[in-house]
Amino acid sequence: MALVVQKYGGTSVGTVERIRNVAERVARTFDAGNEVVVIVSAMSGETNRLVALANEICESPNEREYDVLVSTGEQVTIALLAMCLQSMGYQAKSYLGSQIPMLTDNTHAKARIKSIQDSKIRADLAQKTIVICAGFQGVEENGSITTLGRGGSDTSAVAIAAALKADVCEIYTDVDGVYTTDPRMVPKARKIDKISYEEMLEMASLGAKVLQIRSVEFAKKYGVVIHVRSSFDDSQGTLVMKEDEDMETVLVAGIAFNKDEAKISVLGVPDQPGIAAQIFSPLTESNITVDMIIQNVSSDGKTDMTFTVPKTDCKKALEIIESVAQSIGASGTSSDSAISKISIIGVGMRSHAGVASRMFEALSEEGINIEMISTSEIKISCVISEKYTELAVRVLHEAFGLNRED
Ligand code: ASP
Ligand code: MG
Repeated sequence: MALVVQKYGGTSVGTVERIRNVAERVARTFDAGNEVVVIVSAMSGETNRLVALANEICESPNEREYDVLVSTGEQVTIALLAMCLQSMGYQAKSYLGSQIPMLTDNTHAKARIKSIQDSKIRADLAQKTIVICAGFQGVEENGSITTLGRGGSDTSAVAIAAALKADVCEIYTDVDGVYTTDPRMVPKARKIDKISYEEMLEMASLGAKVLQIRSVEFAKKYGVVIHVRSSFDDSQGTLVMKEDEDMETVLVAGIAFNKDEAKISVLGVPDQPGIAAQIFSPLTESNITVDMIIQNVSSDGKTDMTFTVPKTDCKKALEIIESVAQSIGASGTSSDSAISKISIIGVGMRSHAGVASRMFEALSEEGINIEMISTSEIKISCVISEKYTELAVRVLHEAFGLNRED
């Protein structure tokens, strides 16, 4: 007997028909002799609909009331799923976040989980009851409803799995696992059998949007094994887990790309102590996150400083930087939004040499110019012209032996 936590996303519970399918899968897991705790999202599109309603009423709705509103989608699906299981002859019981309770801090719309009371859930499980919890929501100490940020049901599921010390946390979604890259871009992308938390964090933050990033951080911290799989078939999906030896033998686990950044350069900057602080502090103060930074070595006491920011912040960043440039005596600024960042990710890089040069060669063979490079222990990223994104991803996917053979 195992304790299995299953999470079903919006598309998996998007219609009554699909809720029935979910109920059947839950029932099968229970019939196999397991204890089952289910976390569900709102029906697909529902949370967006609620957010739109709030924005119709006013531009920046009160945060407490926003959470009261957007958390309702999950109240519908937990009840429907519980009814469905009951009509099939099973004992099932639904819980809102506040009823569990899942205690969070009071940062509405992006609350963080503080603790989870497991006593009611455990008592139900002992009575052979299937427990169904609303994802995405919690309650703060004064009793106000909170939500965990968009996509937060993944984090709810992992946190509940951690609190219950569940054997596995299965995340059911509309794809059948984590892929070596976006299969819509590279049809030869392969499903990954298992991936380490660290790699998954890089893949997720770089645009492979299968799991909410915070859920992976949570899983890493508490050692929860996540199984990402499809709710439409029975195939094995991808295990997100602690790094093991097999993972190290693979040079590159996946290729991510991000078209959401823009590049800004400050030209002819005096090469003096304190200049970087003068450039980047005002950006931080305006809540603009800087990603890659490159500074050239200067030969004449002047240097160029280039960095990337989210595209949505580019205009604001440029305004700030233009005034900084004047005050520090730089010769000018420039910007480019038509860039993309391509990254190769793999824990195998730690123990293998030559990965970077293989990446650069593959890009150069296609005549793709590399504008910026950054590296970390398990990732190498290159900024290139946006129009070459697809080509770059495809050639790297092939160069690192990731293509599916069929
Ligand atoms: N329903 C919420 C959302 O759409 C939470 C989730 O689906 O994970 O963001
Ligand atoms: Mg999701």
